[in-house]
Amino acid sequence: MNLTRIFTEQLCPVCGYQLKFTPWAEQDKERHCPCCGIHFGDDDAEESKRDATYLKWRERWIGDGLRWWSKDPEPADFNPSFQLARLDFLSAELADQCPMKYRKLRIAWSVGCGITAVMFCVLWVRSYWW
Ligand SMILES: [Zn+2]
Repeated sequence: MNLTRIFTEQLCPVCGYQLKFTPWAEQDKERHCPCCGIHFGDDDAEESKRDATYLKWRERWIGDGLRWWSKDPEPADFNPSFQLARLDFLSAELADQCPMKYRKLRIAWSVGCGITAVMFCVLWVRSYWW
C-alpha cells in the first residue's frame, strides 16, 4: 500500500472514506475515521505494522457488514463499495507506476545482451587469427 499517496488524497486506508483531514498530519488531535472507526495515531501507532493493521481493520469492517461507525449520521452519498473500489483502483494505479515492476525481466534482458556482445567480440577476434 502506498500510504503517502492515500494520505495525500485524504482517504482512509482502511475503508477508502474521503476524510476531511490528513491522517498523521496533526498528531496532537483525536482523529477517527467516521466510517470504519480506526483511530489514527493509536490503532495504527506501530509504523512497521501499519499496512497489516489497515488490512486487518478492513477485513473486520467488511466482515461487520460495511457499517457506518460514527454516531454522527452517515452522509447521504455514503457508498462503501465505491470507497473500496476507489482504494483498489488507487492501489492498482500505483502498482503500475512502480519502478520495480518487470525488474527481473529487465535484469535478464541486460544479461542476455551482455552475453551476446561478448560473443560477438570473441567471433570478431577469432576472425583475425583463424
Ligand atoms: Zn475508514
